[in-house]
Parts: sequence; structure tokens; C-alpha cells
Amino acid sequence: MDFIDTHTHLFSSKFEGDNESAVKRAIDSGVNKMFLPNIDMESITPMLELAAAFPKNCFPAIGLHPCDVKEDYKIVLASMKALISKHKFYAIGETGLDLHWDKESLPLQIESLKIQIGWAKELNLPIIIHARESYEELFEVLMN
Ligand SMILES: [Zn+2]
Repeated sequence: MDFIDTHTHLFSSKFEGDNESAVKRAIDSGVNKMFLPNIDMESITPMLELAAAFPKNCFPAIGLHPCDVKEDYKIVLASMKALISKHKFYAIGETGLDLHWDKESLPLQIESLKIQIGWAKELNLPIIIHARESYEELFEVLMN
């Protein structure tokens, strides 16, 4: 049986030194396809390296995780957007809203989410959404 992992951060520094062997173990266990949603600027290079090492198995997505939306999010998003024409991405994300860790950044998270929804529409790509304790706020954005 073939499995698809729709959301894994095996490129994360938390797996440093074990990233590729973790992917190999997943493949050996029948998980033949893995979608890799990006987190922040620092995670882009390890994500693309992992995807390049397993081009038939690992499919990267580009986006800014809601927990990593800071005051400079517009600059970060501009840098990410510039990469879209240089690499193959299979989705936009990980984006969304997270009110578990930080409620004060909600206005910034919403703006970041809206920008990334715009990319998904423009590029006709699916969007990978993170939602934690934020469903009302999230649907308010998605329905408008
Ligand atoms: Zn995630």
C-alpha cells in the first residue's frame, strides 16, 4: 500500500543529521510521497535540499508559518515570493492562523495569510493551512 504524508517538516533543524535517513525510513515504510510545507526563511534551503535529494518523493511548498509572522513579515514574504519563479513549489504554505501561542500578532497573521492566499490564487496552487484555536478568525478570512 502507498501512503502520502501531506504535511511533514522532516527538513527541520530538529532532524539535523537525520533528515535524509528519516525520509529513507519513511519510503521504506511505504510513505512514497511527502509534502514539505515551509516554515520561515531559514528552513527554505534545507527544505529545497531535501526535495532535491528525493525528487520523486518530496514536494516542497513555499510559505510563512503563522507562528513565525513578525513585524518584518512583508519583507520575508517578498523574499519568499521572489523564489517562486526560481523553484518548483507544489503548494503555498504553511500559512494560517495560530492563537495558541500568540494572540497579539493576529492582525499581522491575517495580513500574511491574505497575501499568501493571493499567491495561491495567482499561481493556481493549493494552500496548506495551519489553524490552532483560530477557526472563527480563519473562516472570516477565507469567506471574504
Ligand atoms: Zn506544519
